[in-house]
Amino acid sequence: MKRVLLLLPTTGYRNNDFLAAAKKLGVEIVAAANYCHRLAPSWGLAPIMALHFDRPEEAADIVVREIGGNLDAVLAVDDSGVELAALLSERSGLPGNPADAVRCVRDKLAFRRLLREQEFLCPRFHHLPTGDDVRMLLPEVKFPLVVKARRLSGSRGVIRADDLDALLRAARWVRAIQSRADRDAGELGIIVEDFIPGREYALEGSLNRGELTTLALFDKPDPLDGPYFEETIYVTPSRLAEAIQDRIHREVARACRAAGLAIGPVHAEVRVNDQGIWILEIAPRSIGGLCGRVLTHSLGVSLEELILRQAVAEPLAAVIDAAREGAAAGVMMIPIPRRGIYHGLEGLASAQSVAGITGVTITAESGQIVAPPPDGASYLGFIFSRAESPAQAESALRRAHRRLRFDIRAGYPATAASAAERP
Ligand code: ADP
Repeated sequence: MKRVLLLLPTTGYRNNDFLAAAKKLGVEIVAAANYCHRLAPSWGLAPIMALHFDRPEEAADIVVREIGGNLDAVLAVDDSGVELAALLSERSGLPGNPADAVRCVRDKLAFRRLLREQEFLCPRFHHLPTGDDVRMLLPEVKFPLVVKARRLSGSRGVIRADDLDALLRAARWVRAIQSRADRDAGELGIIVEDFIPGREYALEGSLNRGELTTLALFDKPDPLDGPYFEETIYVTPSRLAEAIQDRIHREVARACRAAGLAIGPVHAEVRVNDQGIWILEIAPRSIGGLCGRVLTHSLGVSLEELILRQAVAEPLAAVIDAAREGAAAGVMMIPIPRRGIYHGLEGLASAQSVAGITGVTITAESGQIVAPPPDGASYLGFIFSRAESPAQAESALRRAHRRLRFDIRAGYPATAASAAERP
């Protein structure tokens, strides 16, 4: 029996999907959790240890000491564990990405530097160390700009600024968000870069010996022009011309090679405009939230199963159904309309009954504090659709979403600090 160490985020959407896939495949899972070993009671498996994923060197020492080398693979469920997974694979001689490569793509500043060196299209960017006044950059920058934290995800700590006032506010706000979310915030500083106009696409892929297979290219039909960048709808297949889809694939493959990523899942975000294809980011993990479920039908297996099978050395070609069927599918990450306390919703059955809707999963828990980006990085839940065409898959999502009424009440007093930092 194969044995896989699974690195679980404290609040992951997909922990159970991975455990279900492992059960189906007869793979033994050894679980380690980020910080906390008392995870949700609904869990089918008790993690054997709690590790600080954001201290990968120390965490790797603990794993090697406690469970030795008796593993076939190390897998991270989400972004928080990818660096530790790479380091452990490297130390144990297991297949995985080089830890340096993973560290580079997770750090938005290091990744920008790499893109510039390798002559990719790349916005002009500036590092703003902690304590430096953002006005120092004024002689060198041109609005609109994007201010962002170094290693957060889900559009958390990413704000567009169109003028000096907005830039000052954004810098203050992003710094505060990063200080709360990343204990290395002080050393990291933030990034200020040109805003790139254009439409955005997401590529879900799988790397095998450095070769990229595109599993799906998603259109993001809602414009992402800021000032905050909350994700909403993803639809596949893309409605872009084949030639542009090919160029996106090639550019993402080139970026993976340049970064040194060679194996496992890849999720890339790109912008496309008259100048070409701009890689916003590549992440050595699969698509976030429950969005991966949108691919189960077309792949013939769950994304989690595909990742596990690949991790235990099954060739991808054996996993993906060769005759992948082309129906369109979509997912909406249900946006959080405003900060507050979530109390429940109405209209679920009505939304589920919309033609083309294959599921509505609410992940917010009653009593939970919810906040949209740039403060938060989560969703109220996910709506899934399948239809004959991408346009139908998209409109089913919009129709279902219009039927949902969320009860989000204020009443959570903003702290003096967070009120002061917000515009
Ligand atoms: P995250 O890892 O949190 O998703 P990104 O750097 O990918 O952070 O930014 C999140 C979103 O913000 C992107 O998907 C995009 O919509 C927008 N964005 C980020 N940088 C830029 C930029 N330079 N120009 C235009 N939009 C941007």
